[in-house]
Amino acid sequence: MKVKRYNYPAQFGDQLDSLASKIAKMLSNGQYVLSQQVLDFESRFAQYLGIKHALGVNSGTDALLLSMMALDIGPGDEVITQANTFHATVAAICLCGAKPVLVDVTEDAFQMDPGQLADAVTPRTRAIIPVHLYGYPAPLRQVQSVAQSHSLDIIEDAAQAHGALLDQRRVGTHGRVGCFSFHPSKNLAAAGDGGAIATNDDELAKRITQLRSLGQASQNNHVRVGLNSKLDAIQAAVLQTKLPYLDKWNEQRRHVARLYHERLAELPIGLQQGENLNDSVYHLFQLRTAKRDALLDHLRQHDVDAVTRYPVPIHLQPAFAGHGWKPGQFPIAEQLASQLLCLPIRPDMPVAEVDFVAEKVRVFFEGN
Ligand SMILES: *Cc1c(COP(=O)(O)O)cnc(C)c1O
Repeated sequence: MKVKRYNYPAQFGDQLDSLASKIAKMLSNGQYVLSQQVLDFESRFAQYLGIKHALGVNSGTDALLLSMMALDIGPGDEVITQANTFHATVAAICLCGAKPVLVDVTEDAFQMDPGQLADAVTPRTRAIIPVHLYGYPAPLRQVQSVAQSHSLDIIEDAAQAHGALLDQRRVGTHGRVGCFSFHPSKNLAAAGDGGAIATNDDELAKRITQLRSLGQASQNNHVRVGLNSKLDAIQAAVLQTKLPYLDKWNEQRRHVARLYHERLAELPIGLQQGENLNDSVYHLFQLRTAKRDALLDHLRQHDVDAVTRYPVPIHLQPAFAGHGWKPGQFPIAEQLASQLLCLPIRPDMPVAEVDFVAEKVRVFFEGN
């Protein structure tokens, strides 16, 4: 048996032919940029999230960058995020000219440690970026209380958590802005790059709309220096086709995760825990062990497509060497980077595949 991490054809189901003919029409009509297709998807996604504005952009990275540009965050400002996130969160802070400030994460949930936030705030801090990492909702209530007492904006990085609910509201709609990625690996995936920014703030939405179109307020009237970063019309059609299935897929991911929890119980491993666990949409299923590298080899030898996300924490990435962060500075993030491994998790994953993976993990620990 071969256990894959992705099954793209399964995401189209019986919609592939109708999508292909829709795309064929779009190719002929020539409305490639910010067409009706994009506007339709933006309004459906906003409706799904329960928010006023969802603006399509080129990627999740650009969603973060444009959000900070729209909030006038730049040189001299600091933005706090967590040491175990994907590279893009911190790259976006650097790209807008601000200084990234890191906090460590919690042992149980692998999420931003809100207890460390207050100490990280300085007079230059403008915003906090909690990341709903692996699909698990960040501890937003605690983050909000720190943000409120220091008048900071919250920019949610929801790139891995489309559809997750926290306190009856979708993640990505709790902060001033929420940022989504539609990279093919994500829970809601385009057939290429794509992203979106969610906000209830009309003024901010207007600025983001200008900033994604080279700062144009109207044709040839550029009132700001912006990016050229729009959601592609063809990607909007792909996303429109998939959006109605997102809740079902997230439920199927949760089901696979429950099976893993059952099948792997009593093994000497750690699994993501904590109070928001039942709200996770399991973008990734993480298993923690000090024998990570050996287990990874073992699983790959048995055709199980396990991977590590992310093996080098932010503070030790060469790209950020100029920030002066040191090994040992964020010990939990560092340990997780060397001990976490992702087991395959897909909405369409049959129980037999879950059993196969769990059995291979069990055999590994019996022999080691
Ligand atoms: C994928 C991802 C991003 C960036 O999204 P892209 O669309 O790949 O640019 C940002 N943050 C997190 C946590 C991600 O997983």
